[in-house]
Amino acid sequence: MKNIVLYLTFSIIVCISFSFNNTTPVKKPTYVIAIHGGAGTMSRALMTPEQEANYIKALNEALDIGETILKNGGTSLDAVEKTIMYLEDCPLFNAGKGAVFTHNGKNELDAAIMNGENQKAGAIAGVQTIKNPISLARAVMEKSNHVLLTGTGAEEFAKSQKIDTVPPQYFYTPQRWKGLQDALNEENKTGQAVFNNPDYKFGTVGVVCLDNKGNLAAGTSTGGMTNKRWNRVGDAPLIGCGTYADNASAAVSCTGHGEFFIRYTVARDIAALVEYKGWSIKKAANHIVMEKLVEKGGEGGIIAVDKNGNVAMPFNSEGMYRGYAKQGSPRYVKIYK
Ligand code: ASP
Repeated sequence: MKNIVLYLTFSIIVCISFSFNNTTPVKKPTYVIAIHGGAGTMSRALMTPEQEANYIKALNEALDIGETILKNGGTSLDAVEKTIMYLEDCPLFNAGKGAVFTHNGKNELDAAIMNGENQKAGAIAGVQTIKNPISLARAVMEKSNHVLLTGTGAEEFAKSQKIDTVPPQYFYTPQRWKGLQDALNEENKTGQAVFNNPDYKFGTVGVVCLDNKGNLAAGTSTGGMTNKRWNRVGDAPLIGCGTYADNASAAVSCTGHGEFFIRYTVARDIAALVEYKGWSIKKAANHIVMEKLVEKGGEGGIIAVDKNGNVAMPFNSEGMYRGYAKQGSPRYVKIYK
């Protein structure tokens, strides 16, 4: 009897381990690109079908650019830069052309890029004449000894690197100008500073990629927040806050109320949970965005891809322009919850 029990136990163990070994492991995709075009108040009721179609089209075109680079064996850094350049040139988003206005009626642009292979990073803040801030951020990473340059110094460096410049008026769009006028009118009426009014959609852009060499990269570009003053700088150009990439864990780009993302070092915190606690990217991103930030009152969202090509894109606002393209999976593009 004892022998039969032993025999049966042994057989069951063999069967279980055999079936485990035979479960097909999820294959790591050869490339992944995920993008966001900002998070904020964007309900179906506030958007016309035409506006919605324009955003979906732009998100798809952006994904096409990055996906083509990655499919052809290009680097995650190139995919991040070129995809963000497209989004910066598109007036729908709050980055490059289409950036929001400061209290004084100017556009001050912030951007950052990070290479997950070696933790090199480049960022710029408060520039007013750089057509594609992400390219200047990349030049800071690759052609200077620094990580973050600001204002006129950053523009002087841009000149030395032959980076495209434009007159400040290039960034004007009627809808962003109206956004500032609305904020100023409200300020006049209430006597209260209007800065994080949810009616003024955010709209920052960000891209995270995994390439076929297993390298991760992240980039973020923004005009910041409508009616910002005093050369305020948000989270986007601050490494570890709005932008972060490390091949050991994940690439992350954030969007939302920057002050919270700075205080809680959101991008690095998510990567650290993956690296040190072994959490999945979904669990780490959900914890920070849907629990910690919600508890602290920080509105926004993030996109992330981990070293195995898993994507997470949680947001605690009403919507987030977002999408991804992944080798072997159907494309995903969405605006609302
Ligand atoms: N995070 C950006 C900032 O605070 C704004 C945004 O994401 O829309 O500058």
